[in-house]
Amino acid sequence: MKRVIYADNAATTKLDIDAFEAMKTYLLDEYGNASQPYSFSRSPKKALQEARIIIASCINAEPDEIYFTSGGTESDNWAINGTAMCDGDKHNIITSQFEHHAILRSFEAVERMGHSVTYIKPNISGIVAPEALIQVIDRPLLVSIMLANNEIGTIQPIKKLAEIAHSHGAYFHTDAVQAVGHIPVDVNELDIDMLSASAHKFNGPKGIGFLYIRKGTKISPIIHGGSQEKGVRAGTENVASIVGMAIALKKNCDSLTSSCNHIKKVSAAFLNALDFEYILNGNENKLAGINSISIKGASGEALLHLLDLKGIIISTGSACDSINTQVSHVLKAIDIPDDLALGTIRISFDKNNTIEEAVTIAQILNKLVKL
Ligand code: PLP
Repeated sequence: MKRVIYADNAATTKLDIDAFEAMKTYLLDEYGNASQPYSFSRSPKKALQEARIIIASCINAEPDEIYFTSGGTESDNWAINGTAMCDGDKHNIITSQFEHHAILRSFEAVERMGHSVTYIKPNISGIVAPEALIQVIDRPLLVSIMLANNEIGTIQPIKKLAEIAHSHGAYFHTDAVQAVGHIPVDVNELDIDMLSASAHKFNGPKGIGFLYIRKGTKISPIIHGGSQEKGVRAGTENVASIVGMAIALKKNCDSLTSSCNHIKKVSAAFLNALDFEYILNGNENKLAGINSISIKGASGEALLHLLDLKGIIISTGSACDSINTQVSHVLKAIDIPDDLALGTIRISFDKNNTIEEAVTIAQILNKLVKL
């Protein structure tokens, strides 16, 4: 395989080798259906219990508050649709304009069911200000605001936003897909009711994730069938991926400070080596690895392809938008003018990137931008 410099870790990350090794056992040897009563299912069943304990401890939850899903998209769909459908009534629900499409499309679906949705505009620094929530809050059932934005990396004041939601009797959900495994996340400290996470964003396998649901939260199932996950999320458990997810998350959480310091240095080396004018989107309080830069007069899409030809993998916006050349809804929400938005690229580093890689990307970009 051609050697690449991979700098699109907000889209997905490399699978951790220990997670991969552990997964093999449950794919090739202990492959029994975890929900069957015979002895061959004992080991996968135990593996599920252990994974639930490990994952819960990483976010300070109880093991029985962790529900395995097929990833961030399903967790988001479940949190929004499942809460909206928990009784027969029509509700007010609040989110922000710059959420991931897994949230925005879920809200469009509940709007079609007759619920009323308010979309808060983030400020130009990429923050959903608590005052903005106070201004629109009107007896909502649910408020859902992401923990860290996937395009610009800004970290939201979740504790304050959740406090406001609770003081108005609403549940609070956060899409923490970009944050879990990258910054400390404590569901009790943040005082949130639901949280979505996805393994492939923290060096786990793709197609697996979880939804944290605080005990007592009223939520309907959205996937019906067998009685797995206490009867609220049907489907044969993906034991190997769940095991891989738990190992990857524990490893990332155990080395959070050192990884974060390393990633900060890698991002700084990249930005310092750029010798053209650019705007770094978002404010100071953001994920260390996400660098969204807007370059006047450039085409983000052209830069992505030119870098690709040189074996450098970056993104123009969120992964799900990479076939779509429309201006990113995130950049629109923070008032980046269209010409600058179209000249935006996202370089996202993780613990596997080196300073040398960061400087190489910057040096190549320096040449491409001046073409
Ligand atoms: N939410 C955010 C903030 C994301 O960045 C993503 C993926 O890019 C998702 C949700 C969807 O997660 P998944 O790819 O696991 O479905």
